[in-house]
Amino acid sequence: MQGQQLPPVIEVKNLSIAFSNEGTTHCAVDNLSFALQQGDIMGIVGESGSGKSVTALSLMKLLPCPPAHITGGEILFHDPAGHCTDIIKTSEKEMRRYRGRYISMIFQEPMTSLNPVYRCGTQVQEAITIHNSIKAGEARKKVLALFEEVLLPDPERIYKAYPHQLSGGQKQRVMIAMALANNPSVIIADEPTTALDVTVQKTIIELLKNIRSKYGLSIIFITHDLGVVAEIADTALVMYKGRCVETGDVGTLFKNPAHPYTKGLLACKPNMAYRLQTLPTVSDFLRNDGQALNTSPISPIVISNETRSAAHKALYSREPLISVKNLNVHFEAENTLIVGKKRKVHVLKNITFDVYKGETLGLVGESGCGKTTLGRSLLRLIEPSSGEVFFKNNDILKLKESAFRKLRKQLQI
Ligand code: ADP
Ligand code: MG
Repeated sequence: MQGQQLPPVIEVKNLSIAFSNEGTTHCAVDNLSFALQQGDIMGIVGESGSGKSVTALSLMKLLPCPPAHITGGEILFHDPAGHCTDIIKTSEKEMRRYRGRYISMIFQEPMTSLNPVYRCGTQVQEAITIHNSIKAGEARKKVLALFEEVLLPDPERIYKAYPHQLSGGQKQRVMIAMALANNPSVIIADEPTTALDVTVQKTIIELLKNIRSKYGLSIIFITHDLGVVAEIADTALVMYKGRCVETGDVGTLFKNPAHPYTKGLLACKPNMAYRLQTLPTVSDFLRNDGQALNTSPISPIVISNETRSAAHKALYSREPLISVKNLNVHFEAENTLIVGKKRKVHVLKNITFDVYKGETLGLVGESGCGKTTLGRSLLRLIEPSSGEVFFKNNDILKLKESAFRKLRKQLQI
């Protein structure tokens, strides 16, 4: 929130963006206006399809035109030297100078933004050398310093690693290092933590907050998650069907939401204290035209403990549908100490559980703990090293491929 007296870094005025497809036109962003102040983190929040990513891409002049076209408005960028440019009117050549140098972007899925065939270090280094004429050795040193800055462990190893050799959180840190490479004034982060689990998400949010404080840069943080906005942003803009329905500082917005959509969005957050028959959605609070319902929203049906116990009794009185006993999965991995030697990694250790007909079993754990491996090994997409998986009383790990193929239809992923 420092430096509010300075002009905003980005001012969007009455921006409208449409998509045309086979004669039909669809308005994705409708008369949107906002200002991003220097040193501020602005959260843009809204449901899927509300126009968040289209807005972000327009700020970078990365919209796919056609089918997209800007039908009106201005995107004013104030560079550190005090010049003001309308990004909409800027040439592609000029814009290439801006991207990465003044405004950088971090995407949701780092695997799609990092090139799988180049080493991570090389990719960040290229981001530096595109904008600066410096020697390779110097650029390399800068990359290693950036990796340290974003708290990547063992920068030398990460420098040489390919993207697939890093965890999701590490890849996102590489992307943040790349975004920071040329000391930009603005970082636009489009759902940067959505693909990460909550523990990793928290560390990335902390990192972005620290970077903002250290460099005084401005961040637009796009998310559909209100909790994340509350945690990171100073101000928030709520989008709904391409429009800004509400904007203000985060504290006020969360305490006193004014628009029915924001109210609905906040009311949808499930309460951990009790279980509902169905989860509420924004449409339980909002008419299709974005106005509040005349009647009070349908009260959610809370499932009582007695009802739950009775349902559990019925569920667990039968034989289990799937019975997993002492399942073990080992992977072979590169040995980092002896070249050419493999080492065994024990991923699943004696996993035992049952699943009953009609039951939904939640499998939860942090990134890398083995959830996906477990799911895949139940279908033998990964061959377990030992253990049993009974499905309708067949040990599917012992079935011949032809017999198992018949069962596959009944087990979907
Ligand atoms: P969000 O990021 O909020 O989930 P988007 O900005 O991706 O939403 O999309 C906003 C609207 O623009 C949606 O209605 C979407 O269908 C439309 N849209 C986005 N990209 C395209 C495209 N390439 N072609 C046609 N319509 C698109
Ligand atoms: Mg999006």
